Amino acid sequence: NRLLLVPTAGYGENAYYDRMSKSLQFYWFVADAGRVNTCESSDIVNHEFGHAVLDGLRPYYFESILNETGAFHEFMGDLTALLMAFRNN
Ligand SMILES: [Zn+2]
Repeated sequence: NRLLLVPTAGYGENAYYDRMSKSLQFYWFVADAGRVNTCESSDIVNHEFGHAVLDGLRPYYFESILNETGAFHEFMGDLTALLMAFRNN
């Protein structure tokens, strides 16, 4: 299994893990300082990667209709980004 990375999936202030295509989709937008590519943010990349890892470990969590399960998914994304930030010198 491979995880595909799509660095410029489209325009918008968003990025997400797409289970169907097994990919991380990153969007871009224009801010006051110019073009912002969400794929250039390690926090965003690692957050989305956390969703992919959790989906690989616990696939039914992705299908749950409970808000708490969705919140747990977001927690794992944020925790992954946080741990990777600590690792980055
Ligand atoms: Zn998320």
